[in-house]
Amino acid sequence: MKPRCALCDRPMLNPAVLIGALPVGPKCARRAGLLELARKRIGRLSLPSVKYRRPEPQENLNLFDEDTEQ
Ligand SMILES: [Zn+2]
Repeated sequence: MKPRCALCDRPMLNPAVLIGALPVGPKCARRAGLLELARKRIGRLSLPSVKYRRPEPQENLNLFDEDTEQ
């Protein structure tokens, strides 16, 4: 299941902005200026956390990486 944009209801790969728990796609977010607002943390807007791949594989820690947001 791909997430659907809360504004235009189109499927997308990755949300650019979250309104509360609702994902918004990059095009709508840019058009509505949500990226700027989310960076300033206005209202319920937030930027989805980016998951980084660490260079060194640590299998035990990878289990936690899946659930850890920060
Ligand atoms: Zn959209």
